[in-house]
Amino acid sequence: MQYPEAFNHLIECFKHLPGIGSKSAERLAYYILNMDDVYVKEFADALSELHQKIHYCRTCGNICEGEECEICKDPTRDHSMICVVEKPQDVYAMEKVKEYHGLYHVLHGAVSIMDGVGIEDLNIESLFDRIDDKLKEIIIATNPTRDGETTALYLARLLEDRPVNVTRIAHGLPIGSNIDYADELTLLKSLEGRTKI
Ligand SMILES: [Zn+2]
Repeated sequence: MQYPEAFNHLIECFKHLPGIGSKSAERLAYYILNMDDVYVKEFADALSELHQKIHYCRTCGNICEGEECEICKDPTRDHSMICVVEKPQDVYAMEKVKEYHGLYHVLHGAVSIMDGVGIEDLNIESLFDRIDDKLKEIIIATNPTRDGETTALYLARLLEDRPVNVTRIAHGLPIGSNIDYADELTLLKSLEGRTKI
């Protein structure tokens, strides 16, 4: 027997989420069905507001409401440093390192030969636009994975002739790991041990 159409629709929507198969999708749909109307409305509003309100910062590519993110707008941050990361969630991971007060730049991906992603597909043009007299260092904090390392090498090459120091975070992070899973101390050590490339 088929589920009623509206119920089935919700199940199909849940199945689009990563790691959610048919069984989990069914369980979640039943859960929502039994939820209080108020929470269901709040949940639905949060979902529909997300794409309306959340944008990418025009300067760094981080997620924000409005044109520019809180970090880029903050005059107390150290504007002489930019930490380059793959994803917005890496910004939030790096922010756990209280000793880092610089800015960020989000590439929105990494160079991947397997997936056919080239350096030109990443958010890099706007990074070059940010290089000025005030900028002293660009810290490449892409993941210590094959794609992350490839990206770091490409970036270092592209930044070679620019008047800025380019460093790479140290390999304190386990090879193949993701920055957003690393704990604060590991990230701090990795940041402190960064080397010039
Ligand atoms: Zn920003």
